[in-house]
Amino acid sequence: MYKDMFGKTRQKVGLHCHSTMSDGKKTPEEVAEIYKSAGYDALAITDHWYYNDIPEISGLRIISGAEFDIGGKDARCGIYHILSLFARKNPKPDRADDAQTIIDKIHAAGGLAVLAHPAWSLNTPEMMLALDGIDATEIYNTVSAVNYNFRPDSSLIIDTAAYMGGIYPLLATDDSHGYTGADNCVSYIMAECESNEPEEIKRAIVEKRFYATQGPELHLSREGDNFIVNCSPVEHIYFASNTSICKRATHGEALTYAEYTPVDSDCFVRAFVIDADGKQAWSNIIRV
Ligand SMILES: [Zn+2]
Ligand SMILES: [Zn+2]
Repeated sequence: MYKDMFGKTRQKVGLHCHSTMSDGKKTPEEVAEIYKSAGYDALAITDHWYYNDIPEISGLRIISGAEFDIGGKDARCGIYHILSLFARKNPKPDRADDAQTIIDKIHAAGGLAVLAHPAWSLNTPEMMLALDGIDATEIYNTVSAVNYNFRPDSSLIIDTAAYMGGIYPLLATDDSHGYTGADNCVSYIMAECESNEPEEIKRAIVEKRFYATQGPELHLSREGDNFIVNCSPVEHIYFASNTSICKRATHGEALTYAEYTPVDSDCFVRAFVIDADGKQAWSNIIRV
């Protein structure tokens, strides 16, 4: 548990990683040890087609999780990787199910259905919008930067989907497999809730009371006509929207504040920051 700059209680939460129950290199016990020693308050172990619902491992609170992936390796076949988080029972999808059926089964089991790494999967905004009931998506997926490919950042598809009407809570996750140090304990969310009870964390995600980060603290709020960023010291603060051309980046040393006045064409605004070590943080999207 942590206190943010406004005195609110935050839980450091990892939402996507793998163990030896699928293609991860560490056992669930080793995985929990690694994340616990990195100061995490809760972790979902999301093995491929394996539902993990052990509530505590190695003294770390565990959120029920699984990753249901379809479409193989060729984007032309329609790859979807869908995380089940917080389900109260095994959603038990079938490997022959389509993405919508998997989402519906996760919901029927009380879980959140998260579209994982849309950039890695080469999903299109149309593919996202075709699905009913995506509860969140990943704006950043650590392993997609370090393991065989180079597309960790899904902000392009997320911004495109947003102006087309699809706005989702934005998570940062590791998707750790190898536990090399480069793919674990890097990207996570800081959920605003008093305890690490999974139901509380789930509510914080649904209500967008969290920010996604690799370290920097980031708050995006609206005051009158302006959007305000408050953050821990960073070197770059960016506002993103559907408007291609406008001034909305601030660069300098130890920046902790920036403002953005939306232009007439803006229909959404989000913010992201980069600190002196290159660590990023991402806000959720606010409709204008
Ligand atoms: Zn995946
Ligand atoms: Zn994964």
